[in-house]
Amino acid sequence: MTRSRCQSFKRAGLFATFILFVPWIVSRLGITHYWYGQEWMLCLSNGTVAFACIVRGIGRSFGSETFTGWLPHYDLVGATKTLVVPLWLPLLLTVLATAVFFWWYPRLIPAGHCQRCGYNLTGNVSGVCPECGEKI
Ligand SMILES: [Zn+2]
Repeated sequence: MTRSRCQSFKRAGLFATFILFVPWIVSRLGITHYWYGQEWMLCLSNGTVAFACIVRGIGRSFGSETFTGWLPHYDLVGATKTLVVPLWLPLLLTVLATAVFFWWYPRLIPAGHCQRCGYNLTGNVSGVCPECGEKI
């Protein structure tokens, strides 16, 4: 992986972490928000995001349910299918993936250096790394 690609993953990871952290902390503070469609509802509450939809053909409107739970779960209750995903899970995965790129980035050996030992090969025309003997 190149340094610029690794840098891009770092930026994307920080952005994704921010995008997940804000709704997680807002919902943990007790703020609940709903988005409604004709037969679906998206609910942000108690550190979870829940998607609920009505089984086609059965009329029902959504109320102001809130969802909770530390593990993802799927329910089919009556005419409603609900998928609840606690935000800590994607947030943790994003933070860990981003941390890997932050750990990895300083270890990437730049171009013009021996890819085995990192020795600076500027001006080297021998075709062999003088530090470790790696063929260039
Ligand atoms: Zn070397």
